[in-house]
Amino acid sequence: MVISRLNEIQERFGYIPARELNELAKELGKPVHELHGVASFYPFYRLKPPPRATLHVCGDVSCHMKGAPKLKAQLEAMAAASGGQVEVKHCSCLGQCDGAPAMLINDAVHARVSMDELVASCEAAVTGKEVPHRHYEPVKGPFKTDPYAREQERYGALKALVASGDIGGAGGGGAGGAAVLAKLTAANLKGMGGAGFPTARKWDTVRGQPPGQKYIICNADECEVGTFKDREILKNLPYLVIEAMTIAGLVTGADTGFIYCRHEYHEQIHILQDELKKARLLGLVGDNVLGTGRKFDLTVFVSPGGYVQGEETALIEAIEGHRGQPRNKAVDVGFDRGLIVYKGGLWGKPTVVNNVETFAYVPLILSKGPEHFKGLGVNGSEGLKWIGVSGDVRNPGVFEVPMGTTYEHAINVLAGGPPPGRTLKAFAPSGPSFGLLPAKMMNLKMDWGTRVKPVGAILGSGAVVAVDDTRNMLDLALNFTRFYRNESCGKCVPCRVGSQKLVDLIFGLLQGTATERDLEAVPRLADTMVLTSICGLGQVVPSPILSLMEFFPEDIKAATDKGARRAAELAGPAVQLTSNGRHL
Ligand code: SF4
Repeated sequence: MVISRLNEIQERFGYIPARELNELAKELGKPVHELHGVASFYPFYRLKPPPRATLHVCGDVSCHMKGAPKLKAQLEAMAAASGGQVEVKHCSCLGQCDGAPAMLINDAVHARVSMDELVASCEAAVTGKEVPHRHYEPVKGPFKTDPYAREQERYGALKALVASGDIGGAGGGGAGGAAVLAKLTAANLKGMGGAGFPTARKWDTVRGQPPGQKYIICNADECEVGTFKDREILKNLPYLVIEAMTIAGLVTGADTGFIYCRHEYHEQIHILQDELKKARLLGLVGDNVLGTGRKFDLTVFVSPGGYVQGEETALIEAIEGHRGQPRNKAVDVGFDRGLIVYKGGLWGKPTVVNNVETFAYVPLILSKGPEHFKGLGVNGSEGLKWIGVSGDVRNPGVFEVPMGTTYEHAINVLAGGPPPGRTLKAFAPSGPSFGLLPAKMMNLKMDWGTRVKPVGAILGSGAVVAVDDTRNMLDLALNFTRFYRNESCGKCVPCRVGSQKLVDLIFGLLQGTATERDLEAVPRLADTMVLTSICGLGQVVPSPILSLMEFFPEDIKAATDKGARRAAELAGPAVQLTSNGRHL
């Protein structure tokens, strides 16, 4: 596979030398320009030798709020004094928002320490010392997501399924899996990555395709700003994900799975690989799952980075060895005499893609029943939700909460509320995707049905960011919008150009150079982006500015008034005309 080969080359040399790329092209029978196009697309790859030290500071919201700009400036000064051979730059969210500011020192993740300690580690790296990853204590269980009280009980749902014989034939022949699908439907399990698509329907669509090659993919590439809860599920409960994927394989007829994991999650990758080894030894995955004669094996696919790879068709493109750009789904999934026909799964084959949290709930639902799962919700909601809370709170972290928990409880109780002496002004219900809401709306509950105009449903991936009264809302909106601008894959014009236009506009508001008139274009631009962008990234780029226009009009007005005053100054004094229209 192209990506894993590129990963190996990068690992061996620290970059991808041109001669290695040529060799790989010959070996794979592909043109060099194609491989170069792939390697140059992903932020993880280098096409030139790295400098002595690479210092990449996360520039996204939680790190931005916790001093990332100051840290970067300090490191730039240090790099300048060191006489070169040091690269300092921003990188996108590292999934360490609870330990902000976070950074990569020579590709090793560093977070949860003071800025002084980060700078000291960077100084060591600059002198050529090795600075390994910092380990941290995972969130402590027990977790309601885990149906198994003891290690010996694990994979119980898979064993029960096999014992029931309700697994259908290889490739998806036969009518197995009906009981599993009925339970997932009754539990109303939805895609917890944020899309909320019914899981059973996804599995059933793949199951219903003609027998043949099929795939199961776990999306463990959480890269959305403020999202770091899958990091803890993978660290604590890897067996649930592997078990659920195997069950999905037996139900749909797939024999191969991939766990697509972001490359910065080194620890999680090793944990998954260790768990897979154990599962293979126990015959739980492999050529003959629990003596059924059915094969299901899976591998951990290390993602070369990029937020948009979280989009399932972009992720599929990456596994296939292409640039990770989303596909146009209208082309990929067609209809033939009322049946959904897959044209665009992995290598054109029917493929289930679910995220880590979605898979993690499957053993619980199958073991304890849909009613048990639904009963875990509160305030009229059903099920559980893993969330990450970061930003202006005393105890940022990952929490497993009942679905229906209010944002107020998550921020003020679980995460300890704002720092001493401050009050909350706003919160982002899920990273940048749904903008910023005023603190008075924190009584909203987390659920699929919670919708707020103009940004729509707000549950998303559960990336809650708290904002206190010292923050500049436009600065945060700019940070959010820049993230999307930087992560746009560039495939479609509305997203590529529209995201830059919105960055320019918000920057103008911050600088006091934009006026109310400039804002008039925002609703039309937002409509165009929502209607014509290929994937969800382009569709949510306008959310931060739209939410400010709706909920923080005073911040917007202060900025546009400044812009109007500046425009008037530049235009000079008003010209007085005589009654016949001539200048005085
Ligand atoms: Fe790429 Fe943006 Fe278009 Fe999505 S909407 S395909 S990220 S350019």
